[in-house]
Amino acid sequence: MTVLKQDKKNFVSTRNACKVCSPLGASVAFKGIRKCVPLIHGSQGCSTYIRRYLISHYKEPVDIASSNFSADTPIYGGYQNFERALDNITSQFNPDAIAICTTCLSETIGEDISMFISEYKEARKDKKIPELIEASTPSYQGTHMDGFHEAVTSIVKYMGSKGPTIDQVNILPGFVSPADIRYLKEIFDDFGIQTLMLPDYSDTLDNPNWHEYIHLPNGGTPIEELKTCGQSKATFEFGEILNKGKIYGAVKNTKLNPTAGEYMENNFDVPLIRQPLPFGVTLTDRLFNSISGFSGKAMPEKHKMERGRLIDLYADGHKYVFGKKAILYGEEDFVLSMAYFLKEIGMIPSLVATGGSSTELSHRITSLFEGEEVQVHENVDFEKIKELTHGIVPDIIIGNSKGYYIAREMQIPIVRVGFPIHDRIGGQNIKHVGYRGASEMFTTIVNTLLTYRQDNSPVGYKYM
Ligand code: SF4
Repeated sequence: MTVLKQDKKNFVSTRNACKVCSPLGASVAFKGIRKCVPLIHGSQGCSTYIRRYLISHYKEPVDIASSNFSADTPIYGGYQNFERALDNITSQFNPDAIAICTTCLSETIGEDISMFISEYKEARKDKKIPELIEASTPSYQGTHMDGFHEAVTSIVKYMGSKGPTIDQVNILPGFVSPADIRYLKEIFDDFGIQTLMLPDYSDTLDNPNWHEYIHLPNGGTPIEELKTCGQSKATFEFGEILNKGKIYGAVKNTKLNPTAGEYMENNFDVPLIRQPLPFGVTLTDRLFNSISGFSGKAMPEKHKMERGRLIDLYADGHKYVFGKKAILYGEEDFVLSMAYFLKEIGMIPSLVATGGSSTELSHRITSLFEGEEVQVHENVDFEKIKELTHGIVPDIIIGNSKGYYIAREMQIPIVRVGFPIHDRIGGQNIKHVGYRGASEMFTTIVNTLLTYRQDNSPVGYKYM
């Protein structure tokens, strides 16, 4: 009998991915349009998974429609499914917009959604139909972040046009929590700046309690406002890596799609102001400086006070976090800004990991922590992250709830931030951005470390 030797270097499939599927990210972005229903053009399983995943994080009903491919759709094509889905959504929801996201299967069989939309509109040219938007989101080409940014760029491509400048700015908040979006709006509002938030899912994915089911939750940016994005005075775009995580983007000399901010600058002459997600004091100061430079107004007293209280909080807790080592993982822009925040509070992210593959994160983190022992790994899953923890002795894990099992095995605490948070309530309400976000995250990190130390102390103490 011949015994085949197993080659240890053989390809290992993804185990516990540190990323989610592309149309999921696009669906979140499309939920930020008022009265918009995302439609997943593909199999029912894709939309069921996405719906379930989002409901578990946001703890809200999340309607995501499906064109419901059957076994023969890949052979005959999906136009009939597409047409029936749009008709059904229109009659049942009466939406202002339907946003179509493709899936692995519909992209693989080469569905031409732009042509489908033209045919659908032509066949109903005498009827009033919702606005139709599409985003190409095959999951084998990127993560949920690529889907999210693809959707935002699609919105400005479909809706925007050049025109006389109006007194407003576009805010592209990136994939942050509903609480973060509300807070960003408040900051700009305090400077007297009219904002066009793109997307704004601060209400649609975080509604008050309802007495009866509402088909289309309140909130979101209205279509009429989105159509004015090309006339804004400027765009504030948060994130540095944005859509560069796409697999084809990681291949040298491959041209990436523009981000929404770049598209509006190139096509509508809307000046672009870009910076990393404003986590911590350093990056929030940068945001306030940009807003002050743009508006000619000084930071309002309310925010000066919040900044001052945050610095005081840092002084209170600094000795508990200084020099502590963390494992940090998540989406690339999220991780990059969290790394800035950890650096300013004196922590060292010994292991930084992401499921994205832009190749941008490594050199940015490495230069941020020059001289420190910091490993950065891109395009990894949670099992790989677990393997990489061998040899390092971290004090804490910081990331979404999917890494909980690593914390459990290592018997170290975890601070849950970002997306998804499936094993706690309140994920939609975590603040990450601005001075308030830094205050909330700093308090949580310090108290988590203190709880761990107190719980594992041989002496029961109640004073420190
Ligand atoms: S098949 Fe592709 S699009 Fe559908 S759920 Fe899986 S990864 Fe996402």
